Amino acid sequence: RIAYVNGRYVPHGEASVHVEDRGFQFADGVYEVVTVVGGKLADEEGHLARLGRSLGELQIPWPVKPAVLKVIMREVVRRNGAQNALLYIQVNRGVAPRDFRFPANPRPSLVLTCRRTKFQTARQLAEGVPCVTVPDIRWLRRDIKSVALLAQVLAKQKAVEAGAFEAWQVDPDGTVTEGSSSNAWIVTADGVLVTRPASNLILNGITRQSILRLAGELGIPFEERPFTVEEAYAAREAFISSASTFALPVTRLDGRSIGDGTPGPLCRKLRQAYMEYVGSPDPV
Ligand code: PLP
Repeated sequence: RIAYVNGRYVPHGEASVHVEDRGFQFADGVYEVVTVVGGKLADEEGHLARLGRSLGELQIPWPVKPAVLKVIMREVVRRNGAQNALLYIQVNRGVAPRDFRFPANPRPSLVLTCRRTKFQTARQLAEGVPCVTVPDIRWLRRDIKSVALLAQVLAKQKAVEAGAFEAWQVDPDGTVTEGSSSNAWIVTADGVLVTRPASNLILNGITRQSILRLAGELGIPFEERPFTVEEAYAAREAFISSASTFALPVTRLDGRSIGDGTPGPLCRKLRQAYMEYVGSPDPV
């Protein structure tokens, strides 16, 4: 495996940043995960646009121009011979003596790694996955794809301990915000696709945005609005979306069956449409 660190392609085992990198000291950095499906980068433009937005919100300069980053992304994929993989990109504010204030002349660090993956198992796709709800204990800038992920780490661990695949985080008003590393969707009894609108309270998933566009093209009725846990229990279908899960059916929530307990047709249709958009067959 080959990684990229600040201008060099290095063996994965030797890829490292300095202990005074602000990513390490303060989680002062942002990231993106772009999937490689059948050798193709999925939703590359969307992920680069969001990276630019996250950097802008934190006033971190681009470490290299986006066009150069695209070349590096392809080179990392090529050097890893990856057909189905997760390409991870992280930008930190850079190395500076530990001080909360921004350093005067930051030299942001750029790291890319690539890991081959099968995404999900065929069984997970065929049967759907269980989720559990947990309180959303995160900060109020969830729209920034920050590497400060401790709340999501704790949420995912709760899911694992409950035998679930993902944790749906719930705000104090009882509405579902999103998964620990995915966006949350339901289909109402009337067949309306519902997902929370983009705001500071969720990360606006790139896969989410593509799925909404595809739903529009397919004539599937949808609403961007918050929904409650109760509404999710009563949904006809539920699913999650992310770069690595695409659209993955959720068939149990907190131990209750969603709909008839099997993956629903809208999730299947949207997953298929997403794969057609990416231009590769479903890898699962
Ligand atoms: N929400 C959160 C909190 C995430 O961490 C992620 C991805 O990791 C998503 C949503 C899905 O975003 P995307 O579709 O861009 O992968």
